[in-house]
Amino acid sequence: MKITDVKTEVFRWPRHKPIRNGLYTYTHSGLNVVSIETDEGITGIGLAGGIQDAPDVGVAIVNHFKQVLIGRDPLDNERHWHEMWRPKLVGRRGITTRVISGIDIALWDLKGKVAKLPLYKLLGGFTNRVDTYIAGGYYEEGKGLKELAQEMERNVELGARAVKMKVGGVPINEDIERVRVVRESVGPDVKVMVDANNAYRHYEAIEFARKAEKYDLFWFEEPVEPDDYAGQAAITHATSVPIAAGENEYTRYGFRDMINARAVDILQPDALILGGITEFMKVAALAQANDLDIAPHGNQEIHIHLVAAISNGLILEYYRDSVDPMHGKIYTETLRIKDGYVYAPDRPGLGIELNYDALKKYRVS
Ligand SMILES: [Mg+2]
Repeated sequence: MKITDVKTEVFRWPRHKPIRNGLYTYTHSGLNVVSIETDEGITGIGLAGGIQDAPDVGVAIVNHFKQVLIGRDPLDNERHWHEMWRPKLVGRRGITTRVISGIDIALWDLKGKVAKLPLYKLLGGFTNRVDTYIAGGYYEEGKGLKELAQEMERNVELGARAVKMKVGGVPINEDIERVRVVRESVGPDVKVMVDANNAYRHYEAIEFARKAEKYDLFWFEEPVEPDDYAGQAAITHATSVPIAAGENEYTRYGFRDMINARAVDILQPDALILGGITEFMKVAALAQANDLDIAPHGNQEIHIHLVAAISNGLILEYYRDSVDPMHGKIYTETLRIKDGYVYAPDRPGLGIELNYDALKKYRVS
């Protein structure tokens, strides 16, 4: 089997209204699709993280890597990863590694289709049912404590037994009040996580964590800048709340360094960012060797397979329509939460098919 073409499509659409976390405001969401075509008529689909905000750069990098891939056997993912990831030419992090991620995910989708196996089975098959949390709790215009509580109550109605909210975007005592309201609205048996998206200095994060401890947080995510391993390690020593991080980390080398610094309790690799599924599985193994669990960041359709494949998959992140107006419309079938769990699809590969009828009006490339 040979690769005959590598194509990329970028879609970008407005959110209901801008959503804000500890540091950033997001007006749009999007989807960055990489398709790998073969001489046997089988096509693999992959997604790359965050290219919609720099589509010209992303498409140019895909076209650069295309020269490496045309004519090659798509099943040789380890070799392709090695040859695309040339640190001197393309850089060790950032958008090039995100593009490699999209290509690598498409190669794995193809491999699953050739093997006629769902990816979670092909990659390890630890389970087909994973614990899931609904992510949200953003800051929005006109959203007060009452609306925040209503959002969380709706998450629980939808079957979530774990919910996540943003912190770091208002003064600490105001956020503590938001955490109190969320804890009271979901009750004592639902897990509550908080995510600062790198908004704090380490001493502020320690103050927040100590004040929030009484609300029984399941984790405190990205308290500080992603490169501040020492600051993050200091937070883990200063609070009983577990620290989660990794969505801004790239490749096995980044996760190795974060683990060696004892800077994290729960790892959050994102296959669409860190280097694809080939690299994700190496991070999962590195975590196993250190008795650490994996709670992937972002895209539920891809990460369901990865959490289900491994023995140290902790929980799946799930975004609903409150955050993304295209939720339920991007794919021909949508993952749903049942009693706190999501079940991995049994279709070959990733088991996803894009719903072009809904996507086409948002095409930017
Ligand atoms: Mg996060």
